Amino acid sequence: MTTTNGTSRTNGDVTKTTITAKAQVSLPPKKSYAELNPKSKPTEFFGPIGTTIVTFATPAVAYALFFTCNEVTGCNPSASSLSNLAHTIGNWPSSAGKLWEWKALAVYLAWYAWCIATWVILPTEWIEGLLLRDGTRKKYKMNGLWFLFLTLGVAIGVLARPGGIEHFTWLYDHFVPLLSAALAMATAQAVWVYAYSFFSGELLALGGNSGIFFYDFFLGRPLNPTIPGLPNWDIKTFNEVRPGLSLWFLLNISCACEQYVRLGYVSDSMWLVLAFEGWYTIDCYIAEPSILNQMDITTDGFGFMLAFGDLAWLPFTYGLQARYLTFNPVQLGPVFSAIIVAIEILGLYIFRVANNEKSDFRNGKNPKNLTYMDTARGTKLLTSGWWGRSRHPNYFGDWLMAWAWCLPTGFNTPITYFYVAYFAVLLIHRQRRDDEACRHKYGKDWDRYVEKVPYRIVPYVY
Ligand code: NDP
Repeated sequence: MTTTNGTSRTNGDVTKTTITAKAQVSLPPKKSYAELNPKSKPTEFFGPIGTTIVTFATPAVAYALFFTCNEVTGCNPSASSLSNLAHTIGNWPSSAGKLWEWKALAVYLAWYAWCIATWVILPTEWIEGLLLRDGTRKKYKMNGLWFLFLTLGVAIGVLARPGGIEHFTWLYDHFVPLLSAALAMATAQAVWVYAYSFFSGELLALGGNSGIFFYDFFLGRPLNPTIPGLPNWDIKTFNEVRPGLSLWFLLNISCACEQYVRLGYVSDSMWLVLAFEGWYTIDCYIAEPSILNQMDITTDGFGFMLAFGDLAWLPFTYGLQARYLTFNPVQLGPVFSAIIVAIEILGLYIFRVANNEKSDFRNGKNPKNLTYMDTARGTKLLTSGWWGRSRHPNYFGDWLMAWAWCLPTGFNTPITYFYVAYFAVLLIHRQRRDDEACRHKYGKDWDRYVEKVPYRIVPYVY
């Protein structure tokens, strides 16, 4: 409601008018905790039974990838080698396969502490995240690229010292105990954020508040957990691109060092894996602020799924190709190398151009004059360029790159193609989740968009 009143006074030939205005704005009533955090339906991942299975199965797969593909058992496990394996686990001939080592835990904790310390110390601007449903916005410190440069600088310093290359093989030599340390860290974090979310009064994820332990523990109950005393340290964004992503790069370098120590050179296949996966890591840091628009940050809670995925699954399963090449060096030769480089460049091109088209567009720019449609929600949707060819062209580019990362391992075993298969499942599942979320956000406008762009991921195919 707005009211105004005015008075006029004449003083000689000067007229002075005073207008006073009172404005009364009605703000929507502040929502209670229960209204902000409604109970969720446990429907994702086939419900509580599915999330329970995935909680136990994913660590088991991460270990299985080591124990079924290593230099002791080879990478084509037969029934007899698998039955021998049962006796060997827990008593592995080298420290690479020991299930637990306190020293590996200490190294892992030191690594995690380094990641936090550099996050605190390295200067950078703070970036605002999207508006949260309680009307607030969080600020995020994005200094990942500087962190990576500093970490790689230290790594190069170690490698350049006499005996440095041999020292760097320590990571390769402690693969499983390091995986166990990362799993312990992920589990501890998931338990902590789950328990603390009952006392903190923080905002919960809309999908992770069913009241069923294994469902909420896996999907993540709190949306943006922090720890008391460090309210600006957002555990979820930190884990997403810091300790796990860069550890993957370091593990790959360690594998290349081990190969060099054994052979006296680094094979062309290893160079390709190092370059492709290393560039992917650098690219993630260059585009670090874009994670603030991703489903993991905007929608998903932080629970075992993200904690384990970021800290353990990513570095220790995505690194399988480099680990395999260490004990099974493949010589590709120029022709096969060129074919793989071409696949990588094509995938990278589609991935980057598609992501740039959307990111420019969401930032109010449209340098290619792409067509778009208006929606009742207010945000527009691109209907030409890569986003007119499929509804997730960036996933297609990402998946092509996955092939380029696995092909250098040759064709002696299917196990080194695990990443291609797993990533296809992840992207198909993720595309369906995002489609569902967009249908919810855009309603009938999304159906119009789907009519215009019928393909989900692979243009004109799927
Ligand atoms: P995307 O970057 O694919 O973004 C999806 C969002 O984009 C939608 O929710 C919608 O949000 C917006 N959008 C959809 N269609 C259009 C359109 N036509 N025009 C404009 N905006 C549109 O989301 P992800 O977070 O899934 O992926 C980010 C990147 O991370 C991808 O490149 C993916 O490949 C990669 N990734 C890699 C993983 C790995 O392990 N290596 C795992 C997962 C992802 P809105 O309209 O609200 O803006």
